[in-house]
Amino acid sequence: MRQSLRVKLLYSFMLVIAILIVGVSLGVSLLVKEQMMSTKERELVVKGYELSRFVSTLYQQPGDTEGLEEFLSGADRFLGARVWVVDTNGQVVAMSSETAAMTTPRRHRMMGGGHHNGNMGGAFSGGIGVLRREMDTVFAGNVWTRTYESPFYKEQMIMAAIPIVSEEGKVSGAVLLHVPVTGINEAMKQIYYYIGAVGLAAILVALLIVSRLTQGIIRPLKDMEKTAADMAKGDYSSRVVVGSEDEVGSLGNALNSLAQDLEKTVAELNHMEKLRRDFVANVSHELRTPLTIIRGYNEALLDGTVEGGEGARRYYELISRETSRLERLIQDLLDLSRLQSNRLVMDKEWLPLPAIAEGVIHMLTQRAEQQQVTLSLEAPPELPEIWGNGDRITQVLLILMDNGLKYTPAGGKLQVLLTHEQAAVCLKVADTGAGIPPEDVPYIWERFYKVDKSHNRANEGTGLGLAIAKQILELHQAQVSVESQVGQGTVFTICFSAIRT
Ligand code: ADP
Repeated sequence: MRQSLRVKLLYSFMLVIAILIVGVSLGVSLLVKEQMMSTKERELVVKGYELSRFVSTLYQQPGDTEGLEEFLSGADRFLGARVWVVDTNGQVVAMSSETAAMTTPRRHRMMGGGHHNGNMGGAFSGGIGVLRREMDTVFAGNVWTRTYESPFYKEQMIMAAIPIVSEEGKVSGAVLLHVPVTGINEAMKQIYYYIGAVGLAAILVALLIVSRLTQGIIRPLKDMEKTAADMAKGDYSSRVVVGSEDEVGSLGNALNSLAQDLEKTVAELNHMEKLRRDFVANVSHELRTPLTIIRGYNEALLDGTVEGGEGARRYYELISRETSRLERLIQDLLDLSRLQSNRLVMDKEWLPLPAIAEGVIHMLTQRAEQQQVTLSLEAPPELPEIWGNGDRITQVLLILMDNGLKYTPAGGKLQVLLTHEQAAVCLKVADTGAGIPPEDVPYIWERFYKVDKSHNRANEGTGLGLAIAKQILELHQAQVSVESQVGQGTVFTICFSAIRT
């Protein structure tokens, strides 16, 4: 099973807290215990000195063990410490009654073993062996403290041994003070309880923090998981709600911008795919129409529906017209596809625009006269040459002027104006024709776009002319603009910035 982030985080927190608590407890208990013990030891030493001075006087009269023991018992109750007096041989001379009561059977045995002379080594029961060596330092006049597992009391005791020094300065024995460690352990227990309570509180707080944290991490992660899944399914509109500025937040932002990029790219791809499909549909339509017409006329001729030389001749003429229309269409399509292919390299040279315009006007003069449209050319005497392909610029001008003628009624004018602007040479083709409705202006450059959607056969256009012109002008880095007024006329302006000054 997948382990959730929440559980992992919780485990880590618990581990850290557990380590902290154990560490702190160990540290604190060591420190505090040592502190308490050394304080206790110092206290015992101080009290032991006081005691040893009293004992020293009492101890002067050998035989009065009873008196001594009574005094020791008083001291025991007062100090809360077991008191022994030993002589320089390591033999116990007297013990506080607290000890005596506790060890009655033994004491009796020991007492029975010869009272004062009884070697209290029995009482130490091996302990004296360990003690004796150190006791020598005490008999040499030093204080000695230790904490040990007392074989006599069967528990941990803090012990302080203080020499008994007589008035003459001689060491005549030692006072041994014993305090059980249990008191300290009790105090330590309090501390452990406290640490335990703090630990428990820490764990609760950790639980709270972890759930808050994971809320802040898991929710956005789940969100992202969903967004990614949506994206995989092809839905790029899904977004992550980014609520924080940490790594999770920036991951969310990255995912959002990825989704946005993909959304855009896919929209673009879809748009291009639509354009391609429209184009194929348009091409098919444009090809089928003349073919249908040709077949119709041809069948009429074949089955003899049309009789007589004049009628048949008219049909042959129509077939011929549709055939050349097909030819033109295919030529335009080939042209467009060649211009759009990125591999196209165009030969360019410095071209005099007035000469090109004159050539095109010359080509169209006859047609213009037939249509009763006046052609004119205006050009300044000194016009810089432009950098371009002569045939292609001629083609553009032909397309524009052909349109001008097509859409200008008899009596109208079609003008070509050449001007020298600051850093460009501009060519204007202005007619006084039908004009283009403003809503159509942005689309006239598209393939197969025709303002007159009725597909009027009289209008010979393929709808590819301006698309071809646009491609050629793009390859010349020329700027194009159109101004048109319905019923007034249209002005196409092309500016070339690659000029020879
Ligand atoms: P077509 O071969 O149909 O002329 P074009 O691409 O050359 O195709 O032109 C696209 C459309 O733009 C035309 O169908 C026409 O409606 C409009 N148009 C172009 N030039 C003119 C003009 N000078 N006056 C009015 N309409 C024009």
